[in-house]
Amino acid sequence: MSGGMNGAVRIFADYTGDVHERADVVVVGSGPGGAVVAHGLAAAGHDVILVEEGPPFTPDDFELDGARSMARTLREGGLRATRGYMLSTMQAIALGGGSLVNSAICVRSPQETLDGWCSDFALERTTRADLDPHYDAVEKFLGIEPTPDDVQGDRNLLFRDGCNALGYSSEPIARNVRGCRGSGECFTGCRARAKQSMDISYVPAAIAAGARVLTSVQVQQVTTAGRRATGVAGQVARPFTGELSHRVRIEAKVVVLAAGCMATPVLLQRSGGLANASGQAGENLQFHPGVAIMGVFPERTHPEFGATQGYQSLQFIPEGFKLETLWAPPGVFAVRLPGIGTELKQRLAEIPYCAVWDAIASCNRSLGRVRARRRGMDPALHWRFDPQDVQILKRALQVLAELLFAAGARKILPGVGRLPEEMHSLDEAEALRRHDLRADDLTCGGNHAFSSTRMHGDPHRGVVGEDGRCHDLDNLYVADTGILPRSPAVNPMLTCMALAHRVAAGIAERI
Ligand SMILES: Cc1cc2nc3c(=O)[nH]c(=O)nc-3n(C[C@H](O)[C@H](O)[C@H](O)COP(=O)(O)OP(=O)(O)OC[C@H]3O[C@@H](n4cnc5c(N)ncnc54)[C@H](O)[C@@H]3O)c2cc1C
Ligand code: SF4
Repeated sequence: MSGGMNGAVRIFADYTGDVHERADVVVVGSGPGGAVVAHGLAAAGHDVILVEEGPPFTPDDFELDGARSMARTLREGGLRATRGYMLSTMQAIALGGGSLVNSAICVRSPQETLDGWCSDFALERTTRADLDPHYDAVEKFLGIEPTPDDVQGDRNLLFRDGCNALGYSSEPIARNVRGCRGSGECFTGCRARAKQSMDISYVPAAIAAGARVLTSVQVQQVTTAGRRATGVAGQVARPFTGELSHRVRIEAKVVVLAAGCMATPVLLQRSGGLANASGQAGENLQFHPGVAIMGVFPERTHPEFGATQGYQSLQFIPEGFKLETLWAPPGVFAVRLPGIGTELKQRLAEIPYCAVWDAIASCNRSLGRVRARRRGMDPALHWRFDPQDVQILKRALQVLAELLFAAGARKILPGVGRLPEEMHSLDEAEALRRHDLRADDLTCGGNHAFSSTRMHGDPHRGVVGEDGRCHDLDNLYVADTGILPRSPAVNPMLTCMALAHRVAAGIAERI
């Protein structure tokens, strides 16, 4: 690991004593939300400090071993889960936040979804037409383009073929990459540096515009005086162990929290219950629970080649789910493979013949909450899976099974409790339709998380307004996925960045 960027990024080894800095703006968190704000304000000529708890990673730091990579790049070693319903959920701890480990999928929220936000959350300027200029700016900056066929690989193109056979729409996924080589390694970090994660895109651009970046600093509190935030306080945190040392104090005219929708509510609670006159800070936590089915094909699919997630179908958005292709290190998938001994060995031997496709669901009835634990900054998460939302995934599983057989799979592994481990035909897959599917039959992950500090036009019903400013304070802003009022219907990163772009423009006008 190294500081890089000509030493403009302070790393753990640079801290030899307590730190006391001043800036116009301090931004907490360098993920898609924070990096966009830091760049926007630095480019507008403001003195910006960007603070990040995780370290910077270079290609030499990436580990191809999935478990080891998770232990280094993800909070709680990638094993974080909600209580109430056991939904696994991953948040990164790294310069660049989730963009370092994500699949770079960038999709604009549909107009109907944003219209629904406006009418249900008293928002006046968050229609698709309002956000389009911000989407445009982010897409242009990051070079977001549909994935070309030459890096799709068989497991992505088979998805297209299955959709064509059934008459469903499908499209190559637009991603923030430049020169992708189709290595399928997005989850463990892009060694080709093709993925335009924040640490190699918006953060260096912010630095070029004069921003200072402090990594390995855990912010623990927002300091205030009356209705004004005066800065942040925290401590230096050793990478990978979290051991805390020197004190850090940053005074600023404006404070922007972009620590992610799990960490920002904890920060507000640790700061004396800040920005919570509405009682909504830490409430309304939502996810896109996802399910995946593995199909095994007669011919080799060479799944190690191809964009990690290269194809999608938006056909079923009106029914509440989106379909995608998926890839991860085989060791990560193997956790889901049934059987032991010879049986497991046979299944592992089938991986070169497989394709894995997933569905993510908008579950607007399934709500949770984020609370600070008794000690430390990790959140205690509670989330309940509404039975009606479970039925969205039931339908999604049927469609995935149908698609895999339409694309030529000879069998599928649905991974659903109380059903056979393998199905060999559409007739056998009928069991998915007949099943009285319950939440605990599903092994779900939810890496898209949002709404814990939601935007609402009514200060009694939300934490921030449309400009990202906390209703209760004059100069405290939130710019992570927590401000999405509910599901964006598609992958959240691009909408988070578009909203952050707007937050930065609003702050630049006010200071
Ligand atoms: C494996 C995976 C794949 C995904 N794939 C996609 C995808 O392809 N497309 C998509 O749209 N979405 C995807 N997502 C979701 C997407 O990555 C997140 O929605 C996005 O990163 C959220 O951005 P954010 O700025 O809100 O928060 P984050 O990206 O979580 O960034 C928050 C940052 O704040 C830092 N931080 C937290 N607390 C503190 C503190 N106290 N002090 C200092 N710093 C702190 C964190 O370390 C982190 O770097 C994926 C997520 C995962 C985990
Ligand atoms: S598929 Fe490979 S080369 Fe392409 S962006 Fe992901 S990690 Fe980088």
